[in-house]
Amino acid sequence: MKTKKVNKISRSFEYYLLLPIYKLAMWHFRGAKRGFKTNEKCTLCGFCEERCPVGNIKVRDKVVWDDYCEGCFRCINYCPFEAIEYKTYTEGKLRFKNKRIDISQV
Ligand code: SF4
Ligand code: SF4
Repeated sequence: MKTKKVNKISRSFEYYLLLPIYKLAMWHFRGAKRGFKTNEKCTLCGFCEERCPVGNIKVRDKVVWDDYCEGCFRCINYCPFEAIEYKTYTEGKLRFKNKRIDISQV
């Protein structure tokens, strides 16, 4: 008789402690489309659409965000023209690009 294999993942106390905070943060970012906007530097190049890891961005006659944002901030940091802002938090702020990552490969 075959027995069903069950993979059990042991979770730490910290996991359960941080889980509500994580869920709250994700709830916030899933509604993040209200906060994203582009400025006059946007060329509609489509780079953000290609590079969003969860396909949350569409570029047509303007850039539109959907409800599946994971809050990675890749679109903000890697837009070639620094044309994406999140509310007023990112205005005038430096963008971060990890020099150890080739963005065209991810
Ligand atoms: S990557 Fe930047 S410039 Fe290109 S479409 Fe997206 S927001 Fe506009
Ligand atoms: S923050 Fe990340 S997941 Fe959210 S829209 Fe931008 S690239 Fe996509």
